[in-house]
Amino acid sequence: TISTSKQAIQLEEKYGAHNYHPLPVVLTRGEGVFLWDVEGKRYFDFLSAYSAVNQGHCHPRIKNAMIEQVGTLTLTSRAFYNDILGPFEKYITEYFGFDMVLPMNTGAEGVETAVKLARKWGYERKGVSENQAKIIVAENNFHGRTTTIISFSNDANARKNFGPFTDGFIRIPYNNLDALIEALKIEGVVGFLIEPIQGEAGVYVPEEGYLRKAKEACAAQNVLFIADEIQTGIARTGSLLAVCGNCTCEGHCEKQETYTKPDILILGKAISGGFYPVSAVLADREIMDVIKPGQHGSTFGGNPLGAKVAMTALEVVRDEKLAQNARKLGIIFRERMQKLVDKNPIAKLVRGKGLLNAVVINDSPESPTAWNICVKLAENGLLAKPTHGNIIRFAPPLVMTEEQLHECCDIIEIVIPEF
Ligand code: PLP
Repeated sequence: TISTSKQAIQLEEKYGAHNYHPLPVVLTRGEGVFLWDVEGKRYFDFLSAYSAVNQGHCHPRIKNAMIEQVGTLTLTSRAFYNDILGPFEKYITEYFGFDMVLPMNTGAEGVETAVKLARKWGYERKGVSENQAKIIVAENNFHGRTTTIISFSNDANARKNFGPFTDGFIRIPYNNLDALIEALKIEGVVGFLIEPIQGEAGVYVPEEGYLRKAKEACAAQNVLFIADEIQTGIARTGSLLAVCGNCTCEGHCEKQETYTKPDILILGKAISGGFYPVSAVLADREIMDVIKPGQHGSTFGGNPLGAKVAMTALEVVRDEKLAQNARKLGIIFRERMQKLVDKNPIAKLVRGKGLLNAVVINDSPESPTAWNICVKLAENGLLAKPTHGNIIRFAPPLVMTEEQLHECCDIIEIVIPEF
């Protein structure tokens, strides 16, 4: 057993593939907004496992649902029906306002599913010629790590020496409607895959109205608008989905002036509150119906344990009004960070929505300043991680209280001026 951080880090260094570069903190326990390391030090979590634990660590209600199901039935495969999947499918489709769902496990699998679905729809419903389907994506996108997904990434490090790549993607600048309208004219375009806010790229929020206009432009060309809400969805940005716009509804919302309904919606991460890998692709019947038995699936996708956990995790989001809390706390957070930015030249700007925010450090992406700030934040009891070198993402669990948020802002305000 592990009793010191050093021991655990050494084991990972020696026996684990070096495909991550973690902050030197070894965690052993989590509860709500808090994490504890093996030495017993307590931290505020400001990453939420890349927005997978919006409901807070080890949420008791999700935990109990999981324990109950784990002792009843965990996996049947889809060779047979199980008695949890159907109720989950009804629940999640009604929750988000779609006809049907295809359950998978990880986010990347959800994206792969959406890509396959859009292509098949393109050939069978739109009449695109064989092997000519194209999907428009955005520069600096992050949709996962599979071979096809990195095929349309422009992150050199994520791609180098992993070729050959999958064809059929057109990359355009993010948040640029004219570029989209031009690309939509290209023959064979079946879908436009977009993060409503780019998370990994550094929390880029598009202009007001961009998503709605992009959807309209897609609809005009009979192209599917595909929203990857794996990071932004499930209340993170202060509404149930980022495509809800500024709507404050608790459930899914169809107020036309704010809601941009995607043709395909991809969810992952917080759909299960961090307990179990669950992802889901939602669409209406005329799209989802193109997939027939034997054409797509996964041994674990739709298993009763994941389905039960996800249903409960979604109930928690609604019952605890997490979208409203994220919205309220997000405003407070950005106000306080803006004051910090105004006073400290090392902090360049703050941006974000709800509780998905970033502070950009005024230094080059190659400099270690943001990393060093995060190490110092950890020493002061707050865990955050830089993305793209000089951007620090701040995304705590959505169960945080206003008082806790102020305490966290105090920590950040102590640490950043030291640089
Ligand atoms: N899409 C987006 C927008 C993400 O942020 C992520 C993960 O960070 C993914 C897809 C991939 O999800 P996973 O890591 O579960 O495969």
